[in-house]
Order: sequence, then structure tokens, then C-alpha cells
Amino acid sequence: MAKARATPKVARRRASAVRPLPSGPHRFLRLVATIRKITRRRRRHRGLTAVSPSSPPPVPVSKRRQCATRPPAPSPPPPREAETPQEPKRPEEEEAHAADAAAVAVAGKYWAHRHSLFSLYDRGVRMDAEGWYSATPEAIAAAQAARAAPAGLVLDAFAGVGGNSIQFAARGCYVVAVEIDPRKVELARHNARIYGVEDMIEFVVGDFFLLAPYLKADLVFLSPPWGGPAYNQTPVYTLDMLKPKDGHAVFQAAQKIAPNIIMFLPRNVDISQVEELSWLSSPPLDFESEESYVQHRFKGITAYFGDVAR
Ligand code: ADP
Repeated sequence: MAKARATPKVARRRASAVRPLPSGPHRFLRLVATIRKITRRRRRHRGLTAVSPSSPPPVPVSKRRQCATRPPAPSPPPPREAETPQEPKRPEEEEAHAADAAAVAVAGKYWAHRHSLFSLYDRGVRMDAEGWYSATPEAIAAAQAARAAPAGLVLDAFAGVGGNSIQFAARGCYVVAVEIDPRKVELARHNARIYGVEDMIEFVVGDFFLLAPYLKADLVFLSPPWGGPAYNQTPVYTLDMLKPKDGHAVFQAAQKIAPNIIMFLPRNVDISQVEELSWLSSPPLDFESEESYVQHRFKGITAYFGDVAR
């Protein structure tokens, strides 16, 4: 930069050298020689250009030399639109982008049901692709939450985008919402804010099975992954089809946390297997199951264990 500032001086010197116009031929020759000298000096100072405050910053000397000596590189084919971004995306940005795209694609199919999933959908509820097909419809979530004692502590073990946690919180329960996917936790937190219950829910990013030994609550709500929308393509859904662990493992983990458990399961679940879960306790837990509907559509089976069973 110091060199660059020197340039206007060079320009000024040249200007003063030129000012007294020569009158004779020898003076003319001296003038030509002076101009040549100045030109040579300028060449030696190549890279120093007069910089007006508004000009773009000078190109570094080394780069300018390269430009001057090398033949111009063949220009690459114009990038297609998708290739245009110059800065490479960070992996998490790419993931988020892909997740948004997937959510939009899935939303098309489930769009008509958006208000049955979240009645406040139009206020800005957000979902990812899984949320669209696996969130518990709001009316069902509200009916399940109605079994919980107000002011009790509820653990929502597979919280997803927050549908169940929100309904428990709306009933006045304190909720610990455990979810393994941090992006879903962000969506759930956002949705809880829309419902005005964010302060009632403690969101935890983590694996329920790892956290379970350290947790205590009055009630555990379990809506473990059913295995995606293909769950109903089998005539009988058995508990070993639940992911990531079978229904017995999920139930046993929950039993150590609370004496009351609510499980939301596929409508084709083997109900005798579900009832057997209550016998894992000694004495056996009270048990009740109900078919859960939304607008006369059979959505799933809710199983109640312990005091929440009627
Ligand atoms: P499916 O569509 O197969 O029913 P869900 O989307 O209902 O699956 O799964 C419920 C949620 O449980 C998902 O948001 C998923 O990220 C979450 N989840 C899966 N495994 C665990 C785990 N070990 N601990 C906590 N959350 C989990």
C-alpha cells in the first residue's frame, strides 16, 4: 500500500516535467528522452497505478504479472444454475436443504391434513418430511394428554416435531421432550412457541435408550418410530417391528422412569402382544386400549398402562 501511495507523486513529477513546453528541436528530443525515462521508470514500478479513492483496490503485482505473461486461460463453460454458488455449502446446510426439499415433497401428499396435525398450522408450524406422516394428529394427541394429571411431569420419549409434547404442555403438564434428531428439536421448539407452551417443555437432544436410566417422571409417552408409512402393509404389526428397538425394550426402559405409560401404536398392531406388556410389571399394570380416530379415520391404537388406564 505504501508503494501504491507513491504513485500519485510519480504522476505529479511527470506532470511538472511536461509543463514547460520545449520550443527548439533539441528541447523536443530531451522531452522525448524524459518521457522515455519516465515510461521506463513506470515499467519498473509496474503494478503501481494511480489509485483514486473510488477505484477498486489494485490487483497484487504478482497476479498482474501472471495476467500479462500467460495466455488467457480458456474460459470454462458457463456453470449451470445449480453449480453457480461459489462458496461450497457446509454439510449441515446441505442436509438442512435436502430435508426441506423432502418435507416440501411429502407435504404435497399430506397437505390436506395439515390442520388435523396442527390446528395452528397457518400461524407458521413447521415440519420435516417424517413429521408430515408421523406426527400424532392434534385431536388424538389432545385426548391422550387429557389422561395426564395436570402439573405432572411427562416424558415424551420420541418427541419428533412436538405434537404430543405441545398437547401435554397445553394441559398444564411439565414436559421433557427427548428427540434424537437436533433438527426436529428445533422444529418442535418453534412449534411449541407458536402454541405458547415453549416454557413448559424442556427439549433434550439425545437417545432415549441412553438417557432412560437417568430419568424420572410421572408419565412416559411413547410413540416410537413405526418404520415409516409402510407400517400398514402387513396384516398384523408385531412389536418387534418398532424401531430402533422392539416394543418390549421400549416399554421396559419406560417402566423404569414412570409408573404410567401411554403408547401410540399402528392400527394393525397385535393387541394381545400390547396387553402382555402390562404383565411385565409385578403386579401387572392396569391396561386399556382404544382406537384413535380423526374424522372417522382410524389412525392408530392408544394403549394406557397404570393409573392412566380407566
Ligand atoms: P415413523 O415415521 O417411523 O413412525 P417417527 O417419525 O414417528 O417414525 O419417529 C418418532 C421420532 O423418534 C422421530 O422423530 C425420530 O427421530 C425419533 N427417534 C428415533 N430413535 C430415537 C431414539 N433412540 N431416541 C430419541 N428419539 C428417537
